[in-house]
Amino acid sequence: MTESYPAPYRGRFAPSPTGSLHVGNARTALLAWLHARAAGGSFVMRVEDLDFGRVRPGIMEAQLDELRWLGLDWDEGPDVGGPHAPYVQSRRVEGYEDALRRLAAAGLLFACGCSRRDIAAAASAPHAGDEGPRYAGMCREHAVPAGAPLTRWAVSEYALRFRLAEDEEVCFDDGVHGRACFRPAAETGDFVVRRKDGVAAYQLAVVVDDAAMGITHVVRGGDLLGSTARQLLLFRALGLPEPRYTHVPLLLGADGERLAKRHGAVSLTELRREGIAPEAVVGWLASTCGLAVPGERLPPAELVPRFAIERIPATPYVVTGASLAALHG
Ligand code: GLU
Repeated sequence: MTESYPAPYRGRFAPSPTGSLHVGNARTALLAWLHARAAGGSFVMRVEDLDFGRVRPGIMEAQLDELRWLGLDWDEGPDVGGPHAPYVQSRRVEGYEDALRRLAAAGLLFACGCSRRDIAAAASAPHAGDEGPRYAGMCREHAVPAGAPLTRWAVSEYALRFRLAEDEEVCFDDGVHGRACFRPAAETGDFVVRRKDGVAAYQLAVVVDDAAMGITHVVRGGDLLGSTARQLLLFRALGLPEPRYTHVPLLLGADGERLAKRHGAVSLTELRREGIAPEAVVGWLASTCGLAVPGERLPPAELVPRFAIERIPATPYVVTGASLAALHG
């Protein structure tokens, strides 16, 4: 297996500054922080701001402020610096370009001008993967040759995709879900590593940064379980050490959908504005994952001695009206 990293533990939280953090994000942050602190590890804050169309000015600062308000802290991050600075992805472009050049040198990159419609039309099943229809490999012959300047593929016309080996199964031992296996070639197909706008895709940026920052343990939302298989293939292709993964289940609304604005006042901004104490929010979050009894109020530090990943259920927690009412006191 891939326990590539000995101690010391290095964990991280990687928010995208696209909107106010809600209790679901806060719960993932709390669990990632607890996982690191209970292991005596360090904790890194990395801001994933490559989705330029959705990033809003000032949101990064607001998110960091809200995480501190909750009682979380970090040893490295955009506001505190550290040996792996910068901690904001839009300022780490050179690392992504370098990784793309290495993938090209290994013959694993090709240029793809297909539109979403082309991809959907060529797919045998409408929604095979978690990112829409499987890419059927139409452009595989447009390999990016080793050493070619990446600017040769015009921005806005071509995405660069990572060429997958035929139907390889990728398995890993997840901290909550246990053994998880995926077949990225059959499920998503060759995936995008540089978007059509010329920016590194999430899958590539996260791998390059987790490796560059020496991250040993990734704790994040369960929606990214399938992404992990793709990321592991990139770690391997780039010869980078693989972290261990723990995907914590999401918070769902009473309708079974991922908790969001329309389920009520669930953003940290709103809770704070209502005058709810951070200890009450932390207690509520902890109660949704079996780490506190309902109604308990406490700072994150008091949860450290109680934390054990085995206590986190593998199933999502459904936030009912009553449970939201409890949150609002
Ligand atoms: N930036 C991603 C998000 O906010 C998280 C990515 C990760 O933890 O790998 O959903």
